[in-house]
This record gives sequence, C-alpha cells and structure tokens, in this order.
Amino acid sequence: MDTSNRVIVVGAGPVGLCLSLALAQTGVEVCLIEMLGEDNFLEQVSRAGTNHPATLELFERIGLYDRLEPRGIIAPLFHYWDRREHQLIAEFDHAHLKGDTRFPYVLQCERIKIVEEALKLAKAHSNIEVRLSTTFTGFTQAGEVVTASFTNPAGECESVSGAYLVSAEGARSIVRKQLEIEFEGFTYPDRTLNIEVAYDFRKHGYTERNYISDPEEWSNLFHWKGPPDRWRIHFPVEPEAEETALTRAEALQARLQRFLPTGKPFDIVASNLYVVHQRVAQKFRIGRAILAGDSGHVNSPIGAMGMNSGIHDAFNLAEKLTRILRREAGEDVLDRYERQRRHVALQHTQAQTIRNKRLLAEQEPATRERNHAELRRTAEDPKLARAFLLRSSLIESLREAERIP
Ligand SMILES: Cc1cc2nc3c(=O)[nH]c(=O)nc-3n(C[C@H](O)[C@H](O)[C@H](O)COP(=O)(O)OP(=O)(O)OC[C@H]3O[C@@H](n4cnc5c(N)ncnc54)[C@H](O)[C@@H]3O)c2cc1C
Repeated sequence: MDTSNRVIVVGAGPVGLCLSLALAQTGVEVCLIEMLGEDNFLEQVSRAGTNHPATLELFERIGLYDRLEPRGIIAPLFHYWDRREHQLIAEFDHAHLKGDTRFPYVLQCERIKIVEEALKLAKAHSNIEVRLSTTFTGFTQAGEVVTASFTNPAGECESVSGAYLVSAEGARSIVRKQLEIEFEGFTYPDRTLNIEVAYDFRKHGYTERNYISDPEEWSNLFHWKGPPDRWRIHFPVEPEAEETALTRAEALQARLQRFLPTGKPFDIVASNLYVVHQRVAQKFRIGRAILAGDSGHVNSPIGAMGMNSGIHDAFNLAEKLTRILRREAGEDVLDRYERQRRHVALQHTQAQTIRNKRLLAEQEPATRERNHAELRRTAEDPKLARAFLLRSSLIESLREAERIP
C-alpha cells in the first residue's frame, strides 16, 4: 500500500480533528486514531469553549463554523470586575477589531460541541479513515516511513504506516514521552474548582465572559448555551484541600453564596476540580513525528488560549505537510513550524496566561489599584483597546508567527 501520501493523526480532540479536516481538504489521506468510541465519545468532561476570532476564521475554512454558530453564543464583549468592590473595572468590545477580522466577537461554544460536529465532518470525508475505540501505543520511524502501533476495538495489536505521524493526543502524549522530549515549565500548587450553574448572572451586570479579580478568591464567569443555559464559575482552591470536601453540595452552595449572596440555593449542574500546568515541549518534532496542541503545550485556561492556539498549530502544520507531500517544499518547513509555534506557545499563550492569573490574584493594594487604572485607560482609548484585543484574541500571535523565517 502507498503510504507516501498518508498522515497518521493520533487523537480526535479539537486539534486532531481540525488538522485531519484541513489535510483531507487538500487531498492528503489521513488515518485518525481515537481511543474513545461511539459509545463514550460524547461523555468527555466539559472544558474549553471560548473561540477567538482567528479560530472562527479557520473553522469557516473547513466548513465547521456554520455548524457551531447555532450551538454557541456570540459574545462581542468581555469584562474585568473587582470582586471586593463589586465594581466593573473595564469592558472590552471586539467591535474594535472590525477592520482586522470578519468575526469581531468570540463564540462561546464548548469543546464537546466542537469535536462532535468536527467528527461528523471527518467521518463524511473520503480522505479520512476514522478509527474509533482504537488506542495508540507507540511508533517507529525508519527512512521515509513512520509506523504507529495500536490496540484495535477487538483488543488486538495492529499497526498502520504513513509519511508523518502527528501527536494530537493531549497533554499525556505518548509520542512526546517516547521521544524523550522535555515538557518544560511548572504546575501551579493551587487547583481550580469549576462549578456549572443554571442561573442568569446578566441580571447582576455581568456579560458572557467575566474575569474577576480578588486578592482572596479571584474568579472567572462564563456563559454557555443550553438547554438549559449554564454559567461556569472558576475558583482557586488550596493545594491541601480534600476533593470530596470541596465538591460537596453544601460546600459548593456556600462558595457560590459568598460570591453572589442571592439567599436562594443555586441550581448546580456539574462541578469538577483540575490541576493547572504551564509547560511547553522543548521540541515540536523529531524526524517524522510531530507534536501539536496540548501534546506540545499546556497552559492555564485564564484567557482561553490553549485550544485556540492548538487549533492554530493544526492549520499551520496542515499547510506545511501538504506542501511537503506535494513535493512543493522540503522537510525544513517543519523546522519553521516548530520555530513559529513554539514562539507563540512561550511568548504569547504562556506569557499572557501567567500575566492574566497574576492580574486576577494580585494582593498588593497599590499594584491592584494601578492594574485596574491601566485596564480602565486601555478600554476607554480605542487605539489601546484595539491593541489589547489583538493580543487577547491571539491575532497578534499569528501575525508575529508569519514574520518568523
Ligand atoms: C477547565 C478548562 C477550561 C478550558 N477552557 C479553554 C478555553 O476556553 N479556550 C481554550 O482555547 N482552551 C481552553 N482549555 C484548554 C483546552 O481544553 C485544551 O487546550 C484543548 O482541549 C487541547 O486540544 P487537543 O486536541 O490538543 O487535546 P485534547 O482535547 O486533550 O484531545 C486529545 C484526544 O486524544 C485522545 N487520545 C489521548 N490518548 C490517546 C491514545 N493513546 N490513543 C488514541 N487516542 C488518544 C483523547 O481521547 C482525546 O480525544 C481549557 C482547559 C480546561 C481544563
């Protein structure tokens, strides 16, 4: 069998699916391996969901945007709040980006809806062989061929060969570990508690996306389309606290009442606790094995950049792999992929999410005051606001990456 036009993609998360669709559209054959099956694919814990303008443009390119818009919420605005004073500090409006993008807003649409719709498109594409209930176990590479091993739905060991292998397996990437690539960075000692509530926070002045600063308990508050409509609230929790104690119904209610004393119990839909890492792989490629998305970089969700920047990796890589397979470019373009996307992971995604967390958790009163004054000044000045939004929406990261030779 001719393996020279086939790319093996491991992981049908948002990154693996976008990569597969972008490759398939240009005539590349894809073998997409995913350990989840028809029976449990939609049972994944809800995660990311804020899709920035540049990502929406990419979704449109693969026919995904029209499927997501009706399932999401168009949100042109986002807020910074001071929880201590219960005061709106600044409102940013993506309308300032009208000249920069066709989508001057974010789309609040959760990862689970994105992968559900993208998987339907992948299954319908004749260039994509989707292998669900298939667990990747390792790979070898020799000459111009890379071979992936996996356990098939019947529990048997099998393998498939191709010209390149892309690890879109998420943070626990077997490919990254097999290649012994360092995952450099750190893990925050405090964890984040996510509570999902069916309650309309807009009647208290909040908008669809809110970043809330507080020296004791900062928070994020986001709106998701239902039914029923849900709001996701994040709180930091101490490293030593017991998970069962934190997620007990009374403990969740008490925390929510401290945040917004309504006097009535909140309708809690779900809750979960997660650990936050800031890590970037030391290399994004060795030979014919390439990392994309969370397998190459993970970061705090404050600012909604992990999935977005992973999807930007996918499109950058798809374009380069297509040119290589058409013999229009040499393999050195993959070194440029690494230079461009590692730069974005370190200087944009990681740097900004670290800054975002520091801003929300700042304890020193004078620094807090200075930060808030700066946010107000930025939001009120159209030129400064546009520059701020170009950074927060990752448009600047894409423009900067284009300038990297
Ligand atoms: C609470 C929370 C909120 C977040 N909010 C945002 C947000 O608003 N915006 C944003 O941009 N990012 C956000 N993120 C980050 C975002 O979820 C990730 O960056 C994104 O999901 C990474 O996509 P991925 O495709 O690289 O990996 P994943 O989404 O982890 O997908 C990996 C896929 O690979 C499969 N897989 C793994 N191992 C194997 C194997 N051995 N064999 C076969 N298949 C395998 C998995 O089943 C999965 O389907 C958030 C994260 C968290 C935890």
